[in-house]
Amino acid sequence: MVPNNPDDPIIETRGLAKHFGDVRAVDGIDLTIGRGEIYGFLGRNGAGKTTTIRMLLGLIRPTAGQVAILGTPIQPGQQSIFARVGFLVETATAYPNLTVTENLDIQRRLTSAPGGAVAEIITQLGLGQYQDRRAGTLSLGNKQRLSLARAMIHKPDLLILDEPANGLDPAGIVEIRLLLRHLADDNGVTVFVSSHILPEVANLVDRIGIVHAGKLVEEMPIADLHAKSRSFLEIVVSDPDRAAALLGDRLGMETIERHPNGALRLFDGLDRTPEIAKVLVDAGLDLSRLATDEEDLEAYFLKLTEGAY
Ligand code: ATP
Repeated sequence: MVPNNPDDPIIETRGLAKHFGDVRAVDGIDLTIGRGEIYGFLGRNGAGKTTTIRMLLGLIRPTAGQVAILGTPIQPGQQSIFARVGFLVETATAYPNLTVTENLDIQRRLTSAPGGAVAEIITQLGLGQYQDRRAGTLSLGNKQRLSLARAMIHKPDLLILDEPANGLDPAGIVEIRLLLRHLADDNGVTVFVSSHILPEVANLVDRIGIVHAGKLVEEMPIADLHAKSRSFLEIVVSDPDRAAALLGDRLGMETIERHPNGALRLFDGLDRTPEIAKVLVDAGLDLSRLATDEEDLEAYFLKLTEGAY
């Protein structure tokens, strides 16, 4: 079951598909994810993320294609991989009337983790002050921490997390990010994490795959994605149409876009702000903003998955 070679993929799918009647929820996805890698699986609501994850875990049967996890081909109902895989697929499947400690102790016994594992994971997930609280009374964020604790208690080699940031506040997201980074870098744990919010995972993952309408539309190292976010000069001016015409005529600037908020965005000549200001002001236009900025990653992601609604 252990991959023979450290370079062997931890997750591998070929032509993975799941159709529900006419709905092609997942439509031929090939994934190859290595040891110690944190992979972000991104897509809008309904893109096919959860369905893919359920097939990775053998919870539902693919319509077509194959999955291998840690070198083992996955068939529905297969339990053998769970000793080495931790997963979070839905919030709060904990027993609501049992305490945090009791819930974790049940999970510890199910996964044959050692006695000290409960205290250790409570500390790791910052659940110390809630350990004697009943799970059902926890805030959404702390329920999510408990779900993560249950996924990680047996120190799995692979963590599959569906929208793990759900309910966490920004500080909680940073904390979980640091913990996952540590597990990947220091313990070689592979993390597969889904999200519909790119900035939420952009600082965590090594690579992203963007899924749209059941297909993997793009896959790239996160560094490449950061490089793709374009810099621009934003101009807020009293008469944007005239301003765009003037910049074209006088300064030869062509790559000008009109943002929905009314501002102009220039994608070249970013170093020519004094000339730009002069042309506009000399023409009697009222210039209220002239500043460089960077397109956020979210904009890029939305562009790739345009027309989803
Ligand atoms: P979300 O972020 O909203 O969870 P997702 O990317 O996880 O979205 P999926 O839950 O995988 O998306 O759903 C993909 C598509 O498959 C959707 O159109 C959904 O309605 C459909 N679907 C999922 N499960 C079923 C099912 N059991 N029966 C019919 N259609 C389904």
